[in-house]
Amino acid sequence: MNKLKQLLYMLWLKLTGKPAAEELGFMCCFCNESITSLDPDPSDINVIANIDKPKDQQADQYFYCHLQCLKNKLHKNTLEHFVLDDPSKQKSR
Ligand SMILES: [Zn+2]
Repeated sequence: MNKLKQLLYMLWLKLTGKPAAEELGFMCCFCNESITSLDPDPSDINVIANIDKPKDQQADQYFYCHLQCLKNKLHKNTLEHFVLDDPSKQKSR
């Protein structure tokens, strides 16, 4: 992502609290490469700080990633429970 896009992205996040990936493109938070829209990508990670605290003490932020980059970073014990790339293992919503 070039410098101008980074600045616009930070401004968009600050003003809206929402990701602007549709407008600026998807960049992977792990490898910093662009993400092509090809199943199962792009994916996002929503991190909520202070998840055990009341909502007014929480903060959240979205990060985009390649699903494979996320899997590469997860511990093997967590990977045993990873179902995002196998729809047959997912619970229906
Ligand atoms: Zn990646």
